[in-house]
Amino acid sequence: MATSVKLNTGADMPVIGLGTWKSPPGKVAEAVKAAIAAGYRHVDGAFVYRNEKEVGDGIQTMIREGVVRRDELFVVSKAGPDEFPLDSEGLIISDDSSFLDTWEGMEELMDEGLVKAIGVSNFNHEQIEAILNKPGLKYKPANNQIECHPYLTQEKLINFCQSKGISVTAYSPLGSPDRPWVKPEDPSLLEDPNIKAIAEKHKKTSAQVLIRFHIQRNVIVIPKSITPSRIQENFQVFDFSLSDEEMKTILGFNKNFRACPMPWGVKHKDYPFHAEF
Ligand code: NDP
Repeated sequence: MATSVKLNTGADMPVIGLGTWKSPPGKVAEAVKAAIAAGYRHVDGAFVYRNEKEVGDGIQTMIREGVVRRDELFVVSKAGPDEFPLDSEGLIISDDSSFLDTWEGMEELMDEGLVKAIGVSNFNHEQIEAILNKPGLKYKPANNQIECHPYLTQEKLINFCQSKGISVTAYSPLGSPDRPWVKPEDPSLLEDPNIKAIAEKHKKTSAQVLIRFHIQRNVIVIPKSITPSRIQENFQVFDFSLSDEEMKTILGFNKNFRACPMPWGVKHKDYPFHAEF
């Protein structure tokens, strides 16, 4: 099983990356170091996670110590403001800007050599289509990063993206149990007895099954952890495989449940989750 996914830029994107949303600045550098020591070559970050400097510190330490070279690492960041104008209900207000203009800004980063690949996140298929059909398009998105796990299997969107040569990254692969808005009645992937049963059959953990599920769909996956033992565990997924039958069973657990529905954006003209996919 390949440990990377080929992008439409020609580059190989490591199929497992370390997630860093909610990783405290005081802990994330150690998490990044543990991940690189465990074999990760991909780190997922964002300006809005407010820990990118510390993520960079962890990476730099490992480069300085000779554990890894910069050109072996795939570092993802995300552009965008971390504050938006809100209405009286606390919902994001639409403005006149278009994500097609934003895409041109991303293309400039490519032209200036500041990044090696550009992609999108939380785009539905209509929004991707709009980019692909944009007059004068210079670069297709290399990747769409979306929430994906057995309760939100995203079959239509993944098929759409992959059919257009756009790779997919699955975020919140463990169901994001540490999301700030989690409710006790929400379903829990890590505690799901059906996932546990499959894991036990392979002498693996539920987390490892949840991660392996993506790899077998040629989908990149970015589990977050700040716990060194879990960071290692989440990478030990290349020594077993789920049968076609098990993959089908897991796809059957879909319930279109979003851990990250981003309700503050529902009134924005570009809110992506009103569309079926
Ligand atoms: P995940 O589904 O990765 O779950 C993270 C939680 O699972 C943490 O509480 C972590 O605990 C715990 N955990 C990790 N490994 C294990 C394990 N082996 N056994 C038991 N528990 C475990 O959630 P995220 O929402 O963080 O998603 C992953 C990443 O995706 C983010 O960190 C971010 O980089 C990206 N993302 C992108 C979004 C976007 O809009 N583009 C939105 C959401 C996420 P602990 O850390 O304490 O070990």
